[in-house]
Amino acid sequence: MYQKEFEEKAVEVLRSGWYVLGNEVKSFEDEFAAYVGAKHCVGLASGLDALWIAFRILGIGKGDEVIVQGNTYIASVMGITMNGATPVFVEPDEYYNIDASKIEEKLTDRTKAVLVVHLYGQASNMAPIVDLCKKHNLRLVEDCAQSHGAKFDGQQTGTFGDIGCFSFYPSKNLGAFGDAGAIVTNDDQIDIDTRVFRNYGSEKRYYNKVVGANSRLDELQAGLLRVRLRHLDELLDEKKQIADRYLSQLSNDKIQLPTIRDGATHTWHQFVVKSDYRDELVEYLDKKGIGTIIHYPIPPHLSEAYAYLGFREGSFPITEEYAKTVLSIPMYNGMTVEEQDYVIKAINEF
Ligand SMILES: *Cc1c(COP(=O)(O)O)cnc(C)c1O
Repeated sequence: MYQKEFEEKAVEVLRSGWYVLGNEVKSFEDEFAAYVGAKHCVGLASGLDALWIAFRILGIGKGDEVIVQGNTYIASVMGITMNGATPVFVEPDEYYNIDASKIEEKLTDRTKAVLVVHLYGQASNMAPIVDLCKKHNLRLVEDCAQSHGAKFDGQQTGTFGDIGCFSFYPSKNLGAFGDAGAIVTNDDQIDIDTRVFRNYGSEKRYYNKVVGANSRLDELQAGLLRVRLRHLDELLDEKKQIADRYLSQLSNDKIQLPTIRDGATHTWHQFVVKSDYRDELVEYLDKKGIGTIIHYPIPPHLSEAYAYLGFREGSFPITEEYAKTVLSIPMYNGMTVEEQDYVIKAINEF
């Protein structure tokens, strides 16, 4: 989709001779900040970089604890642990997002921040979380890698706390043609610190203030993201139409459909159903040529990477139950009505 616009932009950037930190990045940052309703956006190399740099800029590291939901993509957790901080897992609610009512019991005197992940594209329950962070003087970071354009009480995800972290990995709703990411913030100092950090910690060439990183969004990806951003609302609208058809036409006692929280919007990065017969369903759909994915089969606390945290099967029962029962069914821009009907019929007959 929009092939001509993408090709024209790619050629324009390639011929410009300027590939890193130029006008395309600047313009994308301005346009994305405006779209989200944040004061600043800083382009970075990936969503994971956005997360670990966010905690680094906030000064969160060794000895500090960060609250995060158990059923997230492992990158959310890596953003915390790459800084030496400890993730403290909280069980999800029925919308697959963090259960706000279970955060307070996990707070200790080492808790420094809450990382909210707007999983699958649905905005989390932000009102109580914002209150809780204010009450306990905690930093609030949002992982918006799956929630571009999603809103809670009319406000875009990414703007509720200190920093919103975005990924523009190709499969995300606002996808680039390679790796890319960004943070958004309303805080002038966080904006400056992130700009300095992403470029070797230098404000002025060869004068390095801090030990930074090379995490720059490149001109080509920024230019292509500008094209996609112009069409983002259309693309989200199309997904909403597919989701509405699924929600009204899918009907099978063995399958639970996703629900949407009052006050939240869902941007359908994934359309996730739940079933006690999940593995049979995968096999059945596969035989009919319908590809599905499990997001995610192994929760971070049970992954080998985090064995050192000492959790075991049974540590987080709801998170683990989701890992055993969730399934993402086909949901993509350009999906035809015939394709949707084929999926609906197959699932209803399962
Ligand atoms: C994709 C994703 C990330 C990581 O983004 P990358 O750009 O792939 O590094 C982080 N968190 C969540 C929830 C994601 O879906």
